[in-house]
Amino acid sequence: MLQPHQPLLDAAVPPQRTPARDQAGPWHSEAVCRRDEAGLFFAPSKEPTAARLSREEAAKRVCARCPVMVECREHALLQPEPYGVWGGLTAAERRVVLARRRRREAELQRAVRVAAAG
Ligand code: SF4
Repeated sequence: MLQPHQPLLDAAVPPQRTPARDQAGPWHSEAVCRRDEAGLFFAPSKEPTAARLSREEAAKRVCARCPVMVECREHALLQPEPYGVWGGLTAAERRVVLARRRRREAELQRAVRVAAAG
């Protein structure tokens, strides 16, 4: 079965970083980007910044009309996927989301400890 942006993934991700895509679930079959002929979702090597920004915006426009954007985004956050645009987020944007989640989780755990201490 083809996976979302599989052809480019094979080229862009070193083998040791290939995510366990078989654990991702059935949403793959509805991915709009299953055939990423335009090469929007992963950066070619030595891509200039302006070209990267333009490519990422184009990828995000594709994601915006994808019926499995939420599932894809959560998959990319949970793996976590280190490269490419997934669920409308770049790798840098996903790192920000994950950092926020970690902060929120730490605050919640602190609050639980304080409440438990009475
Ligand atoms: S949300 Fe974007 S990256 Fe994810 S499956 Fe859809 S088109 Fe592909």
